[in-house]
Amino acid sequence: MDATKAADALPPPRRELRLTRKAFLDLAIWMGGFGIIVGVVFPYMAVLVGTPSQRALSLEFFGTSIAAGVVVGVVNFALARYVVGARISDLSMRMRYVGQALLNASRTGDWSSCSAEACQLAVTSDDELGEVAASFNSLLSALEQTQLLERCSAAVTLALSERLELAGLVEATLDQYLSHTGATGGCVLVSKDGELTVAESRNVECSGVAISALVTQAQRSRLVRSIEVPEDLAIEAAVVSFRPRQVVMIPIWLGNTLLGAVLLASAGRLGEGAFRLLESFQAPTAVALNNALTHERFQRLAAIDPLTDAYNRRFGINRLAEELSRARRTVTALGILSFDIDHFKRVNDTFGHLAGDRVLRAVAGAARSVIRTGDVLIRTGGEEFLVVLPGAAGKDVRAIGEAVRKAVGTSNVLITQGEVSVTVSLGGVSYPGIGDETPEELMAAADEALYESKHLGRDRLTMHSAAALAGG
Ligand code: GH3
Ligand code: MG
Ligand code: MG
Repeated sequence: MDATKAADALPPPRRELRLTRKAFLDLAIWMGGFGIIVGVVFPYMAVLVGTPSQRALSLEFFGTSIAAGVVVGVVNFALARYVVGARISDLSMRMRYVGQALLNASRTGDWSSCSAEACQLAVTSDDELGEVAASFNSLLSALEQTQLLERCSAAVTLALSERLELAGLVEATLDQYLSHTGATGGCVLVSKDGELTVAESRNVECSGVAISALVTQAQRSRLVRSIEVPEDLAIEAAVVSFRPRQVVMIPIWLGNTLLGAVLLASAGRLGEGAFRLLESFQAPTAVALNNALTHERFQRLAAIDPLTDAYNRRFGINRLAEELSRARRTVTALGILSFDIDHFKRVNDTFGHLAGDRVLRAVAGAARSVIRTGDVLIRTGGEEFLVVLPGAAGKDVRAIGEAVRKAVGTSNVLITQGEVSVTVSLGGVSYPGIGDETPEELMAAADEALYESKHLGRDRLTMHSAAALAGG
């Protein structure tokens, strides 16, 4: 229930017999007044029950009766003050203590001194005073829940705002969601090129039907909700594998864009509190995910040549330097291939620049199809490329170079005028083996071998002489 609804549901205040601003003073006035009235009325009652009227209606009788009424009023008032007043001041003293403890806790962030046990009031009477204590306790629990929500939400915001790299962010997201809710496993899906794909998973095999069901639900809803446990979703915990009892899907939207979704699978049921927590995590996750995706996009823009999807020269040479120092550190080999399209000018001159661009893309694609995942393809210039081959000794460079040459030479590129095919000339070199062995030295040696290939008639691979001597 939200605050406005709760306020709407409040009953109107009761009419009070209010005389002054002090309830006990009002009580004293009412009791004293009532004592005097009883004292005045009593002699007539005495006459009614047979007391002789000259006695009952005498001044002394009136005086004694009024005095007795006033004494009863005063004693009643004292009892009320003692019985009710003491309990009320006890309540107020405890409330003041709790108020102070809350204030301290919000200042220091240490809520241990104001746990439910420490701060809740004992409900000792079965009346309005008991109701006051119970209402105070429920107010306290609501406050505690809000504080818990705020602290968890702040912790998640802090943990996620520190991550800019997507891989680190999705890992931290899952860590946070699992630790705050106690769910057994889950996965994070991230939207890339309009499709949600699994970026991180823990204890759950997020694939197939489970994912397509999840994606459909995420696209339909903005709410955290329990979804039907997909048939093919199994939790693979350390030792056992079992079907989760509850699966919760948390879509991550930023404005009108679905950035991703988190799926949590739990062996037990998640409580109402966990759902509220997850709702509070949605906004900070969306902001952090958006930042990471933007960061990734910018990094890509800065590093990748848009025509061929290969690394551009600047980033490529940095990668070469990194790989070279790694090879030096780990005492492993590093291969380099430099290649250049043969008579590319003719392609441009004959078929136009657009056809030339298509050929460039196809050559990069053919090279990519034969190199391994860890190898780095760089477009160093117009129609010149470099491939960095971590771990490749001379003979590996030769084998990969030949594979690239064949892959390019056998692929026909579709252009408006029909098909065209090109060849490449390559130069290969392998670290260690050629003198200074700086990145520039290695590139120059590979280029030297490449020019040798051109000189020898093109469409061939030449290994740099030092590499060849070194057994390549
Ligand atoms: P060689 O066999 O000696 O390498 O001859 P070549 O014609 O390939 O060599 P050259 O260096 O004379 O020509 C390179 C051509 O590559 C010139 C330029 O028009 C073309 N080129 C460079 N960058 C691009 C590009 O991005 N798109 C297209 N379509 N052509 C490009
Ligand atoms: Mg050239
Ligand atoms: Mg060329």
